[in-house]
Amino acid sequence: MLDVKTAFLLWATEAGTLAMLLLVAWLRSRGEKHYLMFGLGFAAHALGIALVSFRGQIPDFVSIQAANFIALSAFGLWLSGLRCLDERPLASFAAIPSLIWVAGNLLPVVRDSFAHRMALYDVATAVGFSLMAATVATARFGTGRHRIALIGIWMTQALFNLGFAVAVVLQQPANFKDVSISALVGIAGIIGFVGSIAIIAKLLMDRSEDRLRLLAITDPLTGALNRRGLIDRFEIIRARAGDMKREVALLVFDLDHFKKINDSRGHQAGDAVLVAFTQSCRSLMPANACFGRSGGEEFAALLDLAGMHDAVLVAEAIRRTVAEKPIAFGGQILRVTVSIGIATLPATETDLDRLMSGADRALYKAKARGRNRTAVLTGEKVLCVPSSTPQAIDEQADRQVAALRRLQTMASSQQDLYRS
Ligand code: GH3
Ligand code: MG
Ligand code: MG
Repeated sequence: MLDVKTAFLLWATEAGTLAMLLLVAWLRSRGEKHYLMFGLGFAAHALGIALVSFRGQIPDFVSIQAANFIALSAFGLWLSGLRCLDERPLASFAAIPSLIWVAGNLLPVVRDSFAHRMALYDVATAVGFSLMAATVATARFGTGRHRIALIGIWMTQALFNLGFAVAVVLQQPANFKDVSISALVGIAGIIGFVGSIAIIAKLLMDRSEDRLRLLAITDPLTGALNRRGLIDRFEIIRARAGDMKREVALLVFDLDHFKKINDSRGHQAGDAVLVAFTQSCRSLMPANACFGRSGGEEFAALLDLAGMHDAVLVAEAIRRTVAEKPIAFGGQILRVTVSIGIATLPATETDLDRLMSGADRALYKAKARGRNRTAVLTGEKVLCVPSSTPQAIDEQADRQVAALRRLQTMASSQQDLYRS
């Protein structure tokens, strides 16, 4: 059997090695604060346990009060790491385990008794594990399965610690040699330690994989989906439209005379327009829409909706807002308009290529009709939605216009819905 001092030193070495690995991981990506917190937590735990192992060789206050305080402060750092991982602010309850230790040591009946101090340490540890389990229970990171496993491990640890606290109070050992730590408690501790490290490592790996996947489908300038992302989302939109017996609509947006903005106001002004346009679209799109930048000054949105009328409503709300809203950039005021092409198909008949070529045909017509317009493919025909200016309405003299005016009148009653 290992003597207690060697066991403590082995435990401290293991925790210290983990601390170094985590701190190196943090140095490589400083934004990932959870690595720093977990690393410092293991470092504190290692230092505390190492100081405990030198009992008798260093002043008692250092190897008892300070050592256990440092070891328990690890819970505060681990809890903070879990909060960072969950992108939540640090919480003051993280200090509870070490404060329990401090409070208990103010009582002579605890401070002067080895058994009572040990029980106090185990109660503080049980509280620490329970707080970690509670934090994970309300967290949003990882999968439900991983979170349940962590809660299970940490609640089991907490129960073991409480059981151990009761046992030492009943047995009243005078020092470590008198403590009959059953093999079960030791093995449970090691299994819990290794188990929770393995689950958290898996959780962190899944998280960075998710981030890479997200990066691969995100446009870096606007933060919207890129072309790949839009294509990936198409199947989801189609399936949802199919379930709800709705149609799939593709809206393609092309900023008008965008090159002129770049040429006259500079490329950065052009970038600011792309970002502002993305924000306007996001605020006006229905929540279930997929919006992205398909390239350059071209954007696209995939929506599942009741029919073409709803797609026109969304497009017109965006077109008008963009035309009316000035964009402030570096002391200048920029203005831009957008042309929009729409194609819709029932979910059962739709495929992305057909939608794309249909919406492109409509966009071409919107450009040809003077820009700052919405055009929609209906059957084999492309219809331009009448502009709200009187001259433009006058230009629309055929039957198609009459039909689209009716459509716009019907739609305008719902327009506020999309603007909100
Ligand atoms: P139209 O109304 O016919 O669409 O004319 P346009 O000027 O918008 O179209 P054109 O295709 O001639 O020009 C598109 C311009 O978009 C050219 C290119 O330099 C610019 N562009 C593409 N990507 C970016 C970008 O990321 N940032 C900026 N600032 N400009 C970009
Ligand atoms: Mg273009
Ligand atoms: Mg353009």
